[in-house]
Amino acid sequence: MFIFLKHIAPRTKILFVAFILILLPGTIISYLSLQSIRQKAENLRTKYNGTVNLVRDKLENEVSRLETNLRNSVIELTPESSKVVGLKTWLQNIESENPAFKHLFLVNADGGLISSSVSLGWDKPTAAQLLKNQQAAASFNMAEKAELIRKDYSESITLYREALALSSSSQERALILSRIGRCYFKLGDYKKTISEYKKILELESDEITIGNVPASIVALSQIADCFEALKADKEQTNAMIELYQHLIDQPWDLTGGDYLYYLKSASDKISNPEVSISSESFGENTIEDLKTRENSLLEQIRFMEFIYKNILPEIESVLTKGSPSELKSNSISLQVNDSTFQLSFFKLPSPFQQSHLLALAYQFKKDYIISDLFPKVLASVELGKDVVVGILDENDSLLYLQRNLTVSRYLAAENFSQQFTGWKAALFDPEGKSIEQLTGKEKLLYLILFMGIILVMLIGIILMIRAVIHESEISRMKSEFVSNVSHELKTPLALIRMFGETLDSGIVTEEKDKQKFYGIIRKESERLTHLINNVLDFSRMDAGVKEYNFQEADLVEVVRSSLEAYKFQISDSGFRIESELPDEPMTIRIDKDAISQVLLNLLNNSVKYSDEVKYIMVKVHKESSSALISVTDHGVGIPKDELKKIFDKFYRVSTSKTKETQGAGLGLTLSKHIVKEHGGTIEVESEVGHGSRFTIVLPMADIEKYKQN
Ligand code: ADP
Repeated sequence: MFIFLKHIAPRTKILFVAFILILLPGTIISYLSLQSIRQKAENLRTKYNGTVNLVRDKLENEVSRLETNLRNSVIELTPESSKVVGLKTWLQNIESENPAFKHLFLVNADGGLISSSVSLGWDKPTAAQLLKNQQAAASFNMAEKAELIRKDYSESITLYREALALSSSSQERALILSRIGRCYFKLGDYKKTISEYKKILELESDEITIGNVPASIVALSQIADCFEALKADKEQTNAMIELYQHLIDQPWDLTGGDYLYYLKSASDKISNPEVSISSESFGENTIEDLKTRENSLLEQIRFMEFIYKNILPEIESVLTKGSPSELKSNSISLQVNDSTFQLSFFKLPSPFQQSHLLALAYQFKKDYIISDLFPKVLASVELGKDVVVGILDENDSLLYLQRNLTVSRYLAAENFSQQFTGWKAALFDPEGKSIEQLTGKEKLLYLILFMGIILVMLIGIILMIRAVIHESEISRMKSEFVSNVSHELKTPLALIRMFGETLDSGIVTEEKDKQKFYGIIRKESERLTHLINNVLDFSRMDAGVKEYNFQEADLVEVVRSSLEAYKFQISDSGFRIESELPDEPMTIRIDKDAISQVLLNLLNNSVKYSDEVKYIMVKVHKESSSALISVTDHGVGIPKDELKKIFDKFYRVSTSKTKETQGAGLGLTLSKHIVKEHGGTIEVESEVGHGSRFTIVLPMADIEKYKQN
């Protein structure tokens, strides 16, 4: 490579070095820039990951704090009674103190559940007891036989009344009264039936039952049936509404399905459009209120039944096998259809366990967490304007976003580790850009810069190669020129010397021979002069110092006298020259010598590059505002692709004819230059093997003016 450098010109070397100087640092800079962008993206990613981690931790801490509050409420508000009603109220209080939680429920040692509104398997149903008083029990037995076997309802009523008089508790009275009512019903005495059942309602105890159903419910339902039989619509409706309200206010244990059966039939009857409900009969509450309450109750019931079937076994196994520490949260998460069901519970401390209360379970109110808790926590976190925090669910759908924006991909995200399985805290760019997009602009800029450098370098390379080719071509042509010129000088000089010496020696005596020798000497010296003129003119032209002597002259005359002077030489070489010149003079501003030099060059070429057909035609004519001189020969012609190059300095078409003729490749270069200085052009048409026509076109307008333009 460096050997190659030795042979090329200094200008090319400079170009080459400049190119290397651009290429090397350019490539290094571009590489470093791209590296730094990558590093920047990496740094951004680390920064965002750190921030999102902090945010997630902060949110989780807040969630833990809520759970601690819940535990504190549980410890502080010890339940007053372990009875169903007391526990329901207790759970309601805890729920109202802890708004972040819902579906609180207790688990007892028997595998029973109780929430603030319903219980399931909490109190085991007690077997029907016989009446305590033996005499009362005997009367009750006889009354049942009279009613159920002999169907003697009047007698059974008397016997039931005997038992009633001897009964000792509301529970017993309710049972006996319901039997008396039943007998009256069978007798068709509905009014008396109603009065017996009303007595049950007056007993004023919520806990008395008939079968496993609260006595008041049995009574109200029977009363409604009696009014129906009596066709007392209004009373029937009132009784029904009262029953419905009772059912909603005091649901009893869901075990066995009695409660749901009663609730459903009451609800159906209330919804029946045939039942007209008057508002006066129904105090402050409207049916709509009751319906809404029923729906939320049903929702609780569904939840408790779901827990009973699917979750309770798991809670029990953690409590029995896992021996968890008291008050420590345990999480259960389950895939239900497409969503994740999550629930937490903790083991209750020993005072609770003594009342057979084993655990308290709860769920987070996600709405509260998202729309209340998180915004409050995030308001206290300083994050700056370039990022926004959002919360995503397990399907990556946006649950919450700090600001009201449209965002797509997150910059960084972190999973919640404890309570909200699948949820993520995520950071977003306010304009919805990804990290790649954030650094993309700079990347693009560097890339364009890099491409620019490559492009500049490519152009540099092309220019350099062109310069090298051009220089080597010039140097080749120069050396060819030197050998051609010296050869052209040598031949005429040798001839002149040879014929001069011959004449000088006096060997030639014949006058005719002497004349011939003088003629050769003159012809060769003319050729020599022509050549030297061309070389000198060319060097002046190349140096930019060639001067012209413009003056008004008759172009026809200039051409005629040049032909005259050249005629002898041409005809001597066996050529026939013809001319077509206009009769009128064509006055034009020219340098006469220069123009006749151009004409001589063209004629000379026609002679040099013709073979058999030695015929030259010279024409002068006018075409619009130009004067045209054409020289046509029938010589070897010039190939099409060489036509432009023949006017370049030192250029010679490489054919066998050019090789056998002498020339320096300057004639046409010089001619073109001269014509150009006259404001004109020189054109060529040629066909290989058929000849060429060169046309000098000179403008007839004022040349000086043209030159100034
Ligand atoms: P040279 O000294 O070689 O004649 P010129 O500049 O006069 O130099 O011509 C350049 C080249 O153009 C010649 O070498 C020749 O190949 C070609 N050329 C010029 N005139 C003619 C012509 N009348 N017929 C054919 N070829 C020509």
